Amino acid sequence: MTAATASAAPAAQRTTAEWQAADAAHHLHPFTDFKALAGRGTRVITRGDGIYLWDSEGQRILDAMSGLWCVNVGYGQRALIDAATRQLETLPFYNSFFQTTTPPAIQLAERLAEVAPPSFQHVFFSSSGSEGNDTIVRMVRRYWDIQGQPNRQVIISRLNAYHGSTMAGASLGGMSGMHAQGGLPIPGISHIEQPFWFQLGQGMDREDFGRRAAAWLEARIVQLGADKVAAFIGEPVQGAGGVIVPPASYWPEIRRICDKYGILLVSDEVICGFGRTGRWFGCETMGVTPDLMTFAKGVTSGYVPLGGVMVGERVARALIDEGGEFQHGYTYSGHPVACAVALANLELIRGEGLVERVREDTGPYLARLFDELSAHPLVGEVQTCGLMGAIQLVRDKASSTVFDPEQSVGMLCRAHCFENGLIMRAVGDRMIVAPPLVITRAQLDEMAGLIRLCLDKTLAELGQRGWL
Ligand SMILES: *Cc1c(COP(=O)(O)O)cnc(C)c1O
Repeated sequence: MTAATASAAPAAQRTTAEWQAADAAHHLHPFTDFKALAGRGTRVITRGDGIYLWDSEGQRILDAMSGLWCVNVGYGQRALIDAATRQLETLPFYNSFFQTTTPPAIQLAERLAEVAPPSFQHVFFSSSGSEGNDTIVRMVRRYWDIQGQPNRQVIISRLNAYHGSTMAGASLGGMSGMHAQGGLPIPGISHIEQPFWFQLGQGMDREDFGRRAAAWLEARIVQLGADKVAAFIGEPVQGAGGVIVPPASYWPEIRRICDKYGILLVSDEVICGFGRTGRWFGCETMGVTPDLMTFAKGVTSGYVPLGGVMVGERVARALIDEGGEFQHGYTYSGHPVACAVALANLELIRGEGLVERVREDTGPYLARLFDELSAHPLVGEVQTCGLMGAIQLVRDKASSTVFDPEQSVGMLCRAHCFENGLIMRAVGDRMIVAPPLVITRAQLDEMAGLIRLCLDKTLAELGQRGWL
């Protein structure tokens, strides 16, 4: 068989083993040990509908991670498919460089200004969250240039934050594994500890701990010199770091400290934006208004790539009134098909009242289900915020003793999930969910039942291995 006929074979004519062999031969996956995966074989996802996926073996899987935190309206939404098709037929691409643009880009900018807090009237488009955060780095440094304070270069971020995988995105992020490869972080990025009570605040009142975690920012500003600091960036709730919900005292205190030293506050809304926390943006749930917001993922529910930066008036006025040309942009900034899909997506979120549903109905219901799961012998703590949730696995519940990281207990649990038709992610030994915002109470019950089953199976396996 020639390569040409192999590639031409339609999906239905290849077996799982054939897909896996071709994948191992040619496809390098993101964040993957290539050799280990080639030995095991990839899972091939072939179809999605609502909150469910199907793999090449025909197994149905409840997708409790919304793809990768993005498929907020679920799979198979006709309005998004039609919007993409119509735009592809009318004008599949034109750029916004040559003093030109397209109707979908204009309309989406207008619509985003409507759903964002009132101080946000402008948007700069990219195609991903990483590119959005690269834009943030260039934009905040440009802002301080315009202010005549070019020494304000440093952006303070947090350990165990995730801000993407480009050079700037990975530098802003606080993932030690990423910094260890490729000479990161880039200069001018400084990391402080995260507001992770379970790891850093045990024995302390949670709200006191939140204020202490915010004080780490002030200490770092003073240490660096406020005249060197450009901005602070954080996710309202850390997503990839393990759904770490900060104490309520944290964000207002962060805003107060930024104001005290004149520093810009950036909210990375790539996961928390567009309803995930029960408000349009996560910063609203946290009770603060930032100066800039990064978005991506849920803006199109992941149907096509789109990201960007919402620019608050303080920065927008400086850039517009005094900045001259901003020497930055992407070929696909304002891509008309992506913007058309985003418009349909936002319309669907609004029409179905999904943000309110998360805030008033499904979010509180998830909190209740997780509360019930917290009684399980493997569970040290649970946290939820809107439709994101975390289950911290522990070896000893009474003393909150964690497992040896070498045992990879989270990965054991995740394997039980996959086997039983549930996608739940493991971050170390923290099991996390972020289901599509269209999920119903009955489907949340189904999800919680599967989680309990997988916790039981994990517990039994740990017992057999003598690890308890
Ligand atoms: C996923 C993510 C990013 C990066 O977005 P990409 O589209 O993968 O580049 C940035 N910030 C946060 C908080 C994210 O979760």
